[in-house]
Amino acid sequence: MDGTDVRALADDDLRAYRRDQVGLIPSEPRRAMNPVQRVAEYLLEGVRAAGGDVRTARARAVQWLGEGGVADPKRLMRQHPFQVFESELWVATVVEALLREPDLLLVDVPSAEVESGPRAAVAALLDQVRLDSARPGGAQSCGARARSGGAQSGGGVGVLRVFADLEPALAVCDRVVVMCGGRSVEAGNAETLRRAARHPYTRALLGVPPPHDRRIEPEAVVGEPAPSAAEAAGLGCPYVARCPIAIERCVDEMPEPVRYGGGEARCFRVAPEEEGSR
Ligand code: SF4
Repeated sequence: MDGTDVRALADDDLRAYRRDQVGLIPSEPRRAMNPVQRVAEYLLEGVRAAGGDVRTARARAVQWLGEGGVADPKRLMRQHPFQVFESELWVATVVEALLREPDLLLVDVPSAEVESGPRAAVAALLDQVRLDSARPGGAQSCGARARSGGAQSGGGVGVLRVFADLEPALAVCDRVVVMCGGRSVEAGNAETLRRAARHPYTRALLGVPPPHDRRIEPEAVVGEPAPSAAEAAGLGCPYVARCPIAIERCVDEMPEPVRYGGGEARCFRVAPEEEGSR
């Protein structure tokens, strides 16, 4: 992150990094909140602790809750979590994270109880905040970051979203990393992956045949099979149990990334010079 290897940070530095530079929007908002605290206290706690401008933050919270699809933001802020629907609580966790002005926002897959309307409204809100934060002087700060000692990168907020499906990720993200069994198997810009993905797993998610043999009908990807002993030990390709073009070495060797066009794939059957078009 901005040249820092986060995995190498000592405990105290990692805690400070998470507090000052990263915002997390959890999958289950109710579990992230103190049930005896009103939503307003939850929203403003971080800004207040950092010595920021609470009045500006409160006004911005009302604005962002409204833009995120909350019908009556002021009412929501007076309520306790048990009085509020999951969708509105989820929007509140988004606004709380944004108010702390992070460099990086991690957005987990929202729970099934979060409705499609707030999901779409929040996606638009995040896009707007991301663009505003990248413009010089584009977003008026409420001071949470400047006073907490966070290193203002000046590059705006980066948004890292987790998706359970590939298509919505390709629709809204600039760059997409496809994970299988907890490991990255392909990465690239969305246009490249949509048009010319090369990893068999990515291609199965897209509903197109694997590379090398376009006659193989792609199978629907449903759930995860039980890992083999090699996979459980972190060896081998995580897709080997379902891959229609696997070879012997896939069982106990993990391929190195192979670069192609606008992406890279970890597969023994992908060659850098291969066209890989669908
Ligand atoms: S490395 Fe082997 S098992 Fe994994 S996707 Fe490529 S061909 Fe299939």
